[in-house]
Amino acid sequence: MSALKDTLRETIALEGPITVERYMSLCLRHYYGTRDPLGSAGDFTTAPEISQMFGELIGLWMLEVWNGMGRPTGCRLIELGPGRGTLMADLLRATPLLPDFKAAATVHLVETSPSLRKKQQDALAASGFSLHWHDRIEDVPPGPTLLVANEFFDALPVRQFVGTERGWCERLVGLESERLIFGLRPEPETALGTPLKHGDILEWPGASIDVFSELARRLVRDVGAALILDYGYWGPAFGDTLQALKAHRPVDPLEAPGEADLTTHVDFHRLAQAAVVQGARTHGIAAQGDFLQALGIDARAAALKARATPAQAADIDQALARLTERGPTGMGDLFKVLAVTHEAIDAVPGLPALSPSS
Ligand code: SAH
Repeated sequence: MSALKDTLRETIALEGPITVERYMSLCLRHYYGTRDPLGSAGDFTTAPEISQMFGELIGLWMLEVWNGMGRPTGCRLIELGPGRGTLMADLLRATPLLPDFKAAATVHLVETSPSLRKKQQDALAASGFSLHWHDRIEDVPPGPTLLVANEFFDALPVRQFVGTERGWCERLVGLESERLIFGLRPEPETALGTPLKHGDILEWPGASIDVFSELARRLVRDVGAALILDYGYWGPAFGDTLQALKAHRPVDPLEAPGEADLTTHVDFHRLAQAAVVQGARTHGIAAQGDFLQALGIDARAAALKARATPAQAADIDQALARLTERGPTGMGDLFKVLAVTHEAIDAVPGLPALSPSS
């Protein structure tokens, strides 16, 4: 039995049922703080871990946006939730194309896990860039900003509300003879209005909205652009998207608290609205496959294959197919891309403009 399971039981026995948001928050802190969850030996695999092409193309995106901004100095290149540091390492490898960039930028990694910070340090030490770690985006010093976040917002906790005849009631995690179970707060959250259908589930990504609002405020204040890639959709939509993954297989989210990865799907519409409220401009969304192809992933794969062994060429083809695969289970469709910029940046590579009112 895990120590966190005991703590949760004690907390619930003492204080009563806790919200799904608090449950997720306690589990995720324990989970990310105690392991490297990525790769075939871990619980899940992300796009940068599939191929270097992913980070390299994002590096080219950053260079083009920086160039369009008039090549400002004192630039903050920020990544939220950098995992093993693979995306940032691949991204930085693409930057010598504009040699002035190195002197113009410092790298800022927003990461709460000490063990992943260590991996990031190892992955980035040879880059020659000045590296800085922060617990929160608020702690990154001001300056023109280029920000990337891949599979970060799906790892932040959400509140869940269930439609009942009484109204929207918050979903809670409680105890039934020592077992964790889902339940409902009896009193409805009246501010949410009346549910159209009983049984609908409404997810409220409060933590994501807070981070998103902060990054948008920053882009408006200091100029810059942010690129957000995640498993998600353009809402509104109703449904329970809470998922737990252990060793690449779905498990019950209450089964192994703090030992499985917990995620929810990202509602890009809600995040885009939070950015627009701050006066920022949004671009996209696009499906990841369309975005990577617009940035030239096919040509990049061909260039890599031209100097690869037959076995390496087969790996490159496989990675290309995985990153861009369409259809209901393909990463190229399931993952979406949204950019947020200062209002003066009216176009970014690979993404259609989105009208601020939508
Ligand atoms: N972007 C990486 C890793 C995604 S996993 C990739 O694509 O491979 C999620 C990452 O976010 C991990 O690095 C995790 O430690 C970090 N993380 C999770 N919650 C966080 C929080 N609240 N603040 C900062 N980092 C967080």
